Amino acid sequence: MIIIGSHVGMSGTKMYQGSVEEALNYGATAFMVYTGAPQNTIRKSIKDLNIEAASDLMAKSGLQFDHVVVHAPYIVNLANPDPEKRAFAVEFLTKEVIRTASMHVKQMVLHPGSAVGLDREQAVTWIAQGLQQVIDNTKDLDVKIALETMAGKGNEVGRTFEELKAIIDQTNRPGRLSVCFDTCHTHDSGYDIKNDFEGVMKHFDDVVGIEYISVIHVNDSKNEMGARKDRHENFGFGYIGFDALLNIVYYDKFKDIPKILETPYVNGKPPYKYEIAMIKSKVFNPNLLEVIEHDESL
Ligand code: FE
Ligand code: FE
Ligand code: ZN
Repeated sequence: MIIIGSHVGMSGTKMYQGSVEEALNYGATAFMVYTGAPQNTIRKSIKDLNIEAASDLMAKSGLQFDHVVVHAPYIVNLANPDPEKRAFAVEFLTKEVIRTASMHVKQMVLHPGSAVGLDREQAVTWIAQGLQQVIDNTKDLDVKIALETMAGKGNEVGRTFEELKAIIDQTNRPGRLSVCFDTCHTHDSGYDIKNDFEGVMKHFDDVVGIEYISVIHVNDSKNEMGARKDRHENFGFGYIGFDALLNIVYYDKFKDIPKILETPYVNGKPPYKYEIAMIKSKVFNPNLLEVIEHDESL
C-alpha cells in the first residue's frame, strides 16, 4: 500500500488524537503535524498533547508511527547572525526533538535556515554547529532531523543539494540527519523533476546519497521551474503536472518512506481526501477542484 498523507492540524484539546482522526478522514496512510502554529514557537507541554489517546487510535487503525512526521516551525533560524537568536533556535529545536520522540515519531523536518547576513558559507557553518548541539543535547533519542530542500526564496539555505551536503558534512553523527525532498521546492530552485526526474535523482545520489531521503513533500508548483517562489499548487494542477508527480510518488526507491501533501486548501476546504483518492486511482481528474469546492461535508 502506498504511504501517502498530508499535513494535518494539531490543536484544541484533542491535539495529537485529532491529528490521527483527521488523517484517517482523508484515507491517509501517513501524516505530518506542526506541534503548534508553524509561524510561532509557543508550544503546549508534552502532557497536554494527548499522546496516549493518539497511540490507541494509531494501533486500532493500523497507521504506523514510522509514517508520521513532525515539521519544526519555519521561523527558527539556526543561521541567524545574532548569537542569542541562534541559541534560542538550538534550545527550541532540542525541545522539539524531545516532543517528537515523546510522540513516537522518528523524524522532524527542518528548513535549514536563512542567510540573513548574506554570507552563505557562514550560514552553513552556523546551521551545522546548531544541529550538532541539538544532536548532542538529544543523544539517546531515535529522531532524525530531515533537512528540507528549499526553493531558494530570499536567502534560504538548502536551495542546492551541494548546500545540504555541506551542512551534513560539517556535522558529526550523520545518522541523525536526513533529507526531506520537496517537489515544489526542487522544481522552483531549478531542478527539472518534470522532464528528468531520473537525472535529478542521479545528481542527488552523487552529491548527497539517495538513502538520505527519508520523507517526500508532494506539491505541485504555481510557477515555472527555477522561479524560486515557493508557491504550492494542488496535485496535477501546476507546472510540474500530474504524470511527473505521480511518477515521483510511485518511485520504487521511495516506496517505504512517507509522502506528504502540503497542497493549498480550495476555497477554505482541505483537498487531501480527494487528492489522496486521485493518487491511489492514478487517474487525473481535471474537475477535482470544483468537486472539492462543492463538497458540503468538507
Ligand atoms: Fe517545509
Ligand atoms: Fe515542504
Ligand atoms: Zn514550500
